[in-house]
Amino acid sequence: MEKETKSVVVSGARPTGRLHLGNYWGTLRNWVDLQNKYGCYFFVADWHALTTGADKSENIAANTREMVLDWLAIGLDPERSVFFRQSDVKEHAELALLLGMVAPISWLLRNPTFKDQLQELHKQKYKGQEDKMKQAEGVTKQLAEAHGHDAGELALHSDMATLGFLGYPVLQAADIMLYDARFVPIGRDQLPHLELSRDIARRFNHMFGAPVLTEPEPLFTSSPVVPGLDGRKMSKSYGNTIGIFEDAKGLETKVKKMYTDPLKVKVDDKGHPEGCVACAFHKLYNPDWKAREAECREGKVGCGACKKQLIELMEKELAPLRARRAELAASVNPEELLAAGAAKARAAASAKMAAVSKAAGLI
Ligand code: SF4
Repeated sequence: MEKETKSVVVSGARPTGRLHLGNYWGTLRNWVDLQNKYGCYFFVADWHALTTGADKSENIAANTREMVLDWLAIGLDPERSVFFRQSDVKEHAELALLLGMVAPISWLLRNPTFKDQLQELHKQKYKGQEDKMKQAEGVTKQLAEAHGHDAGELALHSDMATLGFLGYPVLQAADIMLYDARFVPIGRDQLPHLELSRDIARRFNHMFGAPVLTEPEPLFTSSPVVPGLDGRKMSKSYGNTIGIFEDAKGLETKVKKMYTDPLKVKVDDKGHPEGCVACAFHKLYNPDWKAREAECREGKVGCGACKKQLIELMEKELAPLRARRAELAASVNPEELLAAGAAKARAAASAKMAAVSKAAGLI
């Protein structure tokens, strides 16, 4: 009963592979906290996974099940939050279709992430095949010129710029508004996406003369910077991740590979911890990280010893998570859990769709 009076929060994650520590520190720890204060809907965004990866969908179903076990192991609780698979609740697609009737394409083309991601996808597709990439870019450029578009609009003519990819912000808006979400937990860099959702809601409400869609507000979450092993942002596409449930041996190997200050060669060389990946992880796992920074600067510790301590500290926190996940994998059927969550989500979503369809003049 109490839950119904709480503000609703909606968030989702694409099932593109096993979760890593960037996901954990950046998103999932916040989700666990949000459960205490809000009525939370967390969904596995399998349709979103197809928007940029329809050609490699063979692992989506398995990744979805693994993701649910990961969520449980880190403390998401299906008794307190609703978690479900997006494609189990067809109303997400239905509302996205209706929102697509009011969302101008020009708004979607302004989405900076669309063009950035598109370029990244091209790079990935033609990795190690520069000739083919140039050829594809040439064809795309010719198409753009033939249609009188400038280079800035090349993205429009790429074979990877699908309707689903261009329109993913509309699907995101539907994901949020289907549950009357008051808040969406985001980082400040994601604000333009949320603004777009708000614009779509406002336009829909105005066009149909009924305040049927709630404009979501940002819930800014602070999260520490988690670099990947090479110092870039931790990301599966860079191959620089540490899994949340990485085994002890894998953890040790990866920490040993972490980028450190290249000028610190001998133990007593004075180091520069800023920019050192091991140091960034000490900040996350070592309560005395400030002392470690000072020791590094003063040349009182070597990188080998520094990393050895880091491995011990990380293992202390990650081993219980790993053990809990193994227990869950042996005792929980993720499909049952997803089905129960989908039933709860569907109840809210179908009521909302009835109201939206009525406002749009369909009923
Ligand atoms: S001593 Fe530690 S913090 Fe300093 S550069 Fe080496 S690994 Fe990084």
